Amino acid sequence: MSLSGHVDHLVIGAGFAGLCSAIKLQEDGETDFLVIEKGSDVGGTWRDNTYPGAACDVPSQLYSFSFAPNPDWSMSFSPQPEIQAYIQRVARESGVLDRFVFDTEMLSADWDDTAQRWTVETSAGTVTSTTLISGAGGLSAPRLPQIDGIESFQGEIFHSARWNHDLDLTGKRVAVIGTGASSIQIVPELQKVVGHLDVYQRTAPYVMPRGDRPYTRLERQLFKRFPAVQKLYRRAIYWGRETFVPGFTLEPKLAAPAKRIALKNIEKGISDPELRQKVTPTFEIGCKRILISNDYYPALDSDNVDLVTEPIAKVTGDAIVTADGVERPIDVLVVATGFHTTDLPIAEQIRGREGRSLAETWRESGMAGYKGTTVHGFPNLFFIVGPNTGLGHSSMVLIIESQVAYIREAIRAMRVNQYAAIEPTATAQQRWNDDIQRRMKRTVWNTGGCSSWYLDEHGRNTVLWPRTTFKFRELLSRFDVAAYDVTARTDERIPA
Ligand SMILES: Cc1cc2nc3c(=O)[nH]c(=O)nc-3n(C[C@H](O)[C@H](O)[C@H](O)COP(=O)(O)OP(=O)(O)OC[C@H]3O[C@@H](n4cnc5c(N)ncnc54)[C@H](O)[C@@H]3O)c2cc1C
Repeated sequence: MSLSGHVDHLVIGAGFAGLCSAIKLQEDGETDFLVIEKGSDVGGTWRDNTYPGAACDVPSQLYSFSFAPNPDWSMSFSPQPEIQAYIQRVARESGVLDRFVFDTEMLSADWDDTAQRWTVETSAGTVTSTTLISGAGGLSAPRLPQIDGIESFQGEIFHSARWNHDLDLTGKRVAVIGTGASSIQIVPELQKVVGHLDVYQRTAPYVMPRGDRPYTRLERQLFKRFPAVQKLYRRAIYWGRETFVPGFTLEPKLAAPAKRIALKNIEKGISDPELRQKVTPTFEIGCKRILISNDYYPALDSDNVDLVTEPIAKVTGDAIVTADGVERPIDVLVVATGFHTTDLPIAEQIRGREGRSLAETWRESGMAGYKGTTVHGFPNLFFIVGPNTGLGHSSMVLIIESQVAYIREAIRAMRVNQYAAIEPTATAQQRWNDDIQRRMKRTVWNTGGCSSWYLDEHGRNTVLWPRTTFKFRELLSRFDVAAYDVTARTDERIPA
């Protein structure tokens, strides 16, 4: 399909964020929109992360749309195929799929201040749009490690988010670089099939017990027949999770019981005292993402697994060499080194009112926006999962729904008041971010003694939201036009 012409709204990405935007735009009678997606299907994260063991680490009851409950979740933490099937089903049933253009990448977007619209180059042609809604994802672009000689490796190498399912790993010598959220799901699965597994750890994470269980048939029937019961159940999980916030943001001592549980998990899962020592974190719990697993530690304790904590010096044609000179031969290298988070590729592609890209703007002072959603200098741009919207304790779908609610309010205000363009003022944006960074100072992410992917090159946490999710929802519940510069419409292209 080739693209041309004008749409009122152009949405980038078909993950939870893009899909939520499409459904809610349609609900509001905004029918002139397109969603472009560089992949071949909806799902985003859940289309791409198909590695063995992939599952959510926030309970599925909460890690799903509030407006599309799923009584059929099989487990409290559902596996990837089920989440992907859920997103596909919601997309199908909501009747928005004819607005989606797959296998189409946004290459650049430039704000045209004369025409008051975005000119968007895509791999399928050029379109213009009144608003640009980015649902391009915060954990979407794989980050590859910069290791000497890695390009000379002759075996198979792939990122955890680009799993090579054609490769039979049975009996192979495999290395996994990284011990983050994806790695701890992958390692136990690999341990069962590979000949030998080396796990390269830079920093030991805290790993709590997973608390996973299958839902009984009775529970599922109950959810189906009495949706109010499922709603109550979801609410209980929601409030349970919100109680974690003070431990992260106000007083790390409140997280002491969680720390004890995580340390007990090491004792329970590992018998070798030296290995226990290696996996014991040296920073405060919560400073880096808290992980959950019942089988990661036992897998590390297995005979066919080595945890390597010596830094990697280089990769050769068939081995990894650590700083102490030890060479460990391998057939397959899995890089589980996360994603570009504070240097989002899409930020390079979007150029605002002054012709500067978001990336250029953000390189100077770090990622910043107003309410995590709009950005000064970038009129009519809405950025879902934008600066300081990430969570350490709960479901990102809650954040996405709050942001989409705000975007709907903004679009309604544009229609009703005949605004051609809206843009947050520099003052409003500055005030918003000053408040966030002031709150950040007290959080465990800044004081906990770790370096994490939450922090940018200036040491600022521009990824996480330092308050409760209900506060976020409240603050984004209405479009506050006083914080915006608005440009009145001079043509009749989009009547109210
Ligand atoms: C392995 C893994 C597990 C996770 N588990 C959880 C969890 O348990 N709980 C939780 O709350 N969060 C979790 N997350 C975070 C997760 O990313 C979010 O919850 C959520 O899926 C984000 O949805 P999204 O639509 O914003 O982004 P994504 O799902 O990343 O979707 C972005 C989409 O945009 C497309 N895109 C990007 N750039 C372009 C372009 N230029 N042109 C066209 N299309 C483009 C991508 O192809 C992708 O399909 C996890 C993330 C990962 C990687």
